[in-house]
Amino acid sequence: MLTRLSISSHEEVYRVEDAGTGLRGFIALHSTRLGPAAGGLRMRVYESDDAALADVLNLSRGMSYKNAAAGLPLGGGKAVIMGDPAADKTPALLRAMGRAIDALGGRYWTAEDMGMSPEDMAEIARATRYVAGRDQGQHASGDPSPVTAGGVVAAMRAGAAKVWGIDDLAGRHVAVQGLGHVGWHLCRILHEAGARLSVADMDAARVATTAREFGAEAVEPDTILATEADIVAPCAIGGVLNADTIPEMRARMICGAANNQLATPQDADRLHARGILYLPDYVANGGGIINVSAEILHVGDRAAWVEERLGAVRKRMDDILTRAAGEDISPAAIADRMVEEALLARAV
Ligand code: NAD
Repeated sequence: MLTRLSISSHEEVYRVEDAGTGLRGFIALHSTRLGPAAGGLRMRVYESDDAALADVLNLSRGMSYKNAAAGLPLGGGKAVIMGDPAADKTPALLRAMGRAIDALGGRYWTAEDMGMSPEDMAEIARATRYVAGRDQGQHASGDPSPVTAGGVVAAMRAGAAKVWGIDDLAGRHVAVQGLGHVGWHLCRILHEAGARLSVADMDAARVATTAREFGAEAVEPDTILATEADIVAPCAIGGVLNADTIPEMRARMICGAANNQLATPQDADRLHARGILYLPDYVANGGGIINVSAEILHVGDRAAWVEERLGAVRKRMDDILTRAAGEDISPAAIADRMVEEALLARAV
């Protein structure tokens, strides 16, 4: 059922197949240097096996960076199931994936990602105990979105202190792209902090609700990134910071929850050249994995521990921004370097 593939960039990579249930997918452990590899399970249709493999390799590497940046004793891993979640997902298929994860003996911990629900994770948990992000159970951590939003605000305060000399967000104008699980909580926290909000989503009903609840101004989705705001917060999809959007941007700072906001690494340099402070996404959105990790690590006082880790996100972002300013390079380049140093330090 598990076939090991030899891929030099990763510690362990497996093809997962189960003829009886139609399961086809991959599990990738990029690094276990800091601890067991942790990262979500994604189910979606892929054009080919190669496309699924490329996705799992890329995502698992990203998890190594995110977990290290959050200061967690966890490595980076990810799993994908090839198929349409609406049509191909069955309890038997999920349990088969659970057995594959279980066979790795705890070197990989999974959690919910695109195409998966808390109910699906509960089904997988019938076959393995290496599942986090559950709704129920002794250490269940539930929906990570409020903690993710809290981490984004902690990072934003670090950025505000650098740009405006004060971390108070009262009166700051923040443009939020995407009002889903994280975006809504972000608007709630910012509203409570006294910020002024402009918001956009593809879903007009979400825009109307958020505008009403938090006195936000509704903006068209195709112009939100170019809003003349202090801060832009991408909380929808990846790749939104690119050669087309960056020249149009008028904010002084970018800090949001979306994964992989930069279309290419060069976009960090484009932003830096324009004097727009980009706070690296995988540092700013680490609250989600911090929340999940409390479950993996069986933390006692979850609330206090999460609070402490979010404080660490703020400190790490402070450190990244100070070093970036000192060297006059993008914070994204500094963040990558800091993580690579941390991973190497554990390797020797
Ligand atoms: P979600 O699916 O609940 O919300 C995304 C929202 O973005 C939806 O309302 C959608 O309509 C909107 N959207 C999509 N395309 C858009 C566009 N072009 N313009 C404006 N709005 C658009 O997702 P989420 O859980 O809130 O996560 C948001 C982002 O943050 C994702 O990139 C996710 O990977 C990342 N993230 C989430 C968490 C978490 O705890 N949920 C943790 C880390 C990172």
